[in-house]
Amino acid sequence: MHWAERIARELIEKYPDRETYVCASGISPSGAVHIGNFREIITTYFVVKALERLGKKTRFIFSWDDFDRFRKVPKGIDRSYEQYIGMPYSEIPDPYGCHGSYAEHYEKGFEASLDAFGIEVEMIYQSKEYKSGRYNEYIKHALDCRCEIYDVLMDFKTQEPSQEERKAYYPVTVYCEQCGKDLTVIRDYDGCVLSYGCACGYEGVVTVLEASHMKLVWKVDWPMRWMVEDVVFEPGGRDHSDVGGSYMVSKEVVKRIF
Ligand SMILES: [Zn+2]
Repeated sequence: MHWAERIARELIEKYPDRETYVCASGISPSGAVHIGNFREIITTYFVVKALERLGKKTRFIFSWDDFDRFRKVPKGIDRSYEQYIGMPYSEIPDPYGCHGSYAEHYEKGFEASLDAFGIEVEMIYQSKEYKSGRYNEYIKHALDCRCEIYDVLMDFKTQEPSQEERKAYYPVTVYCEQCGKDLTVIRDYDGCVLSYGCACGYEGVVTVLEASHMKLVWKVDWPMRWMVEDVVFEPGGRDHSDVGGSYMVSKEVVKRIF
């Protein structure tokens, strides 16, 4: 039996009542998308096809993590791009000048190669989802449960948890409304309004349910999306499955928080 069929059968056995089997894949458009990224999507593609052969309805979603922060300037890109470090990929200009943003430049290139292979997939752009307000209630939920999330993270760490750290822990990134960067520190959250300060000097106050410049941290963002999209399958690198790796942590977060 092909590995994809074995996985498809396992999914059906595990979730016998699903009307639609949502299978996911995703990449951060940090630079040119290479063949290793292609493996990620093709793995999901094989499982989707196997589910369909077994008579199941599927939804194949591909998530562009383009609301992630720009971490470093890749080789071949002008050094002046250092000024954008800390901003989301979706808010940075295209270094080649041909697309609406840095993210879009790499997204469109990869999407064209998928088309060439005839792979049909539903694209989800996380910058759009986050900015649309679709996730705001879950951001609020995560903020309300921030101490419990801290406890989950600490379960995977060898260091002792601290009450001070627990009280100061916020599972969100706030992009500054003035400079657009994530060089912010959360000052306070009262269950509705959040205040922050930025390295640029700006002090901001936001109503969480109305914010469009906040993002959950990766290990909370990923499980939140599993819940929102009702994902049953998503491949990942082995490193994610190490103790304390994102998959292990996210699995606990989705169980205990979402
Ligand atoms: Zn700022």
